[in-house]
Amino acid sequence: MDGINGNCIFCRIIQKDIPYAIIYENDKFLAFMDKYPINHGHTLIVPKQHYSNILEMPFEIVGEMYSLVPRLAKAITSVIESDGFNINQNNGKSANQIVPHVHVHIVPRYSAEKVKGQWPTRKIAKMQELQDLAQKITASLAHNYE
Ligand SMILES: [Zn+2]
Repeated sequence: MDGINGNCIFCRIIQKDIPYAIIYENDKFLAFMDKYPINHGHTLIVPKQHYSNILEMPFEIVGEMYSLVPRLAKAITSVIESDGFNINQNNGKSANQIVPHVHVHIVPRYSAEKVKGQWPTRKIAKMQELQDLAQKITASLAHNYE
């Protein structure tokens, strides 16, 4: 596929070179569980084409990407029963962008979190747990949008 960067971890996930917990896929985008989640259900949406940051993307592709956010967030939050969620999209190292391939974070939040207004600490998730959760979210998506 054009637009793939062989050194990019997200491009490798898109090509299914490495196992990942995928919750949604169409011809232009892939959504999968973050391996280092801030919270249970933390999901990333990426364009299949490699763009380093959002300024490289055609505007209509940005629009298509963001139109997936509420659809995926609805399925995620209903499956894990979170009280809210953040949508984050970082551009550049100074903005905490770790992987230089555009991605939108959906981060579920809970009323019971101890320190309100701050990010929970990132955790390392077991791939099996992520894949089990991804399966439930995929089923919820299919149920809501068949
Ligand atoms: Zn990439």
